Amino acid sequence: MVDTALQACHDNDLKTVQTMEISVGEATGLIPHYLENYYPQCVKDTILEDSTLKVNYIPVTAKCDDCGAEYTPSRENEYRCPECDSIHSRMIHGREFVLDRLVGE
Ligand SMILES: [Zn+2]
Repeated sequence: MVDTALQACHDNDLKTVQTMEISVGEATGLIPHYLENYYPQCVKDTILEDSTLKVNYIPVTAKCDDCGAEYTPSRENEYRCPECDSIHSRMIHGREFVLDRLVGE
């Protein structure tokens, strides 16, 4: 992720970066608080050194293949669709781990 950010800085001709924003999905198992704590070590001695990491945490969202409903799967109903009780669904959010934005100049 840091490599991607550094590449983006280079591409955008950024000399200093104030904020780096990333999106992290719940299903990645990554903890935003932990990422924010670990970030300063990752970016030490790079142009990102003085920047702040902002994590947008994205909850898991599933889309039902049968009725098209979007819902938050829960263990209690065995991840079934709350609208039609179907077990056929796809995860549409929750696996993200992407760089959203770099704020700098
Ligand atoms: Zn459904």
